[in-house]
Amino acid sequence: MSEEVLVTDPDTLRYLYANGSAVRSLGYTLEQLRTMTPMDVTHDPYRMRFDNHVRKLREGAPYVVFEGVRKRITGDTCPMEARWQLVSSFGRPVILSVVQDITQRKEIERMKNEFVSVVSHELRTPLISIHGAVKLLEGGAAGVLPEPATRLVALAARNSERLRVIVDDILDLEKIASGRIEFNIESLDASAALGRAAQAYETMVRTAGVELTIEPHDALQLKADAQRLDQVLANLVSNALKFAPQGSRILLEASREGSGVRLQVTDHGAGIPEAFRARFFRRFAQADMNTSRPKGGSGLGLSIAKQMIEQMGGSIGYSSEPGRTCFHVVLPAVP
Ligand code: ADP
Repeated sequence: MSEEVLVTDPDTLRYLYANGSAVRSLGYTLEQLRTMTPMDVTHDPYRMRFDNHVRKLREGAPYVVFEGVRKRITGDTCPMEARWQLVSSFGRPVILSVVQDITQRKEIERMKNEFVSVVSHELRTPLISIHGAVKLLEGGAAGVLPEPATRLVALAARNSERLRVIVDDILDLEKIASGRIEFNIESLDASAALGRAAQAYETMVRTAGVELTIEPHDALQLKADAQRLDQVLANLVSNALKFAPQGSRILLEASREGSGVRLQVTDHGAGIPEAFRARFFRRFAQADMNTSRPKGGSGLGLSIAKQMIEQMGGSIGYSSEPGRTCFHVVLPAVP
């Protein structure tokens, strides 16, 4: 099948041109398409996400690649991948968009995910029972254990807990990928969300000897699923805590960004190594196995966070240099 090529105005997002393949696939005439935008031919009602892609391109990204759901004139849908590039045409910047139908790739991914999910489910039950038994031993249910046994049991308890977290994360990822997660989108207060994230880590903050501050800001309302947003913010705060040096400050901020609200977590840790950045947000990605592993975690948190935020119509990103790492989430603002 030949590639679908569309040209879009970066300001209005209106289509300027579509090749024969795109016209045939979408079912609209070129004249009709010239009055339409990507929001009309995808299952994506939020303009903000497309504006974000344009912003990245204007900031110098050579291209952006994203997935979505293509909506044809007939109402049929199919998964698609688009690659946007800012090019110059007759002296003005336009977006050159190449779109691919990825139905087959998605089907293979679905089968793979289903397999992983079945295996994880099967692992979960015996794992929980092993963890429970070991915790009972650790708690003295079988009497006082000799010193070497105590150490071994503590090791087993720690690792079975780690395994449980990984299995739960894999199940979460599979649920998202297969669209089985339901998002209950409502209007939320940005301050309250940051406050909940801070509260959840109060004890860990104290033990780690760091200071967690919420920067005061105007009342901002955003659209998201409260529980999922809490999960993402908790992941970002917990990562910041893992890397923040003693005595340093972790900063939580909220601000308005275009048609969205930006929530930001900044820490003053070592930062994300340059070499690791290409793998960021991928499954099981951890910068340095030797330093990250003892800190716990599965390397799945950010991958889960990215997918959940994107499914809620938002975006997630970071900037990092030694001594300062900043993760941000942008979600649609309540108009
Ligand atoms: P986990 O924390 O469970 O390992 P994540 O997906 O949340 O998994 O994070 C993946 C990896 O990204 C971490 O293991 C770490 O190497 C890196 N990382 C995340 N947040 C930070 C941060 N604030 N500073 C430095 N590295 C980070």
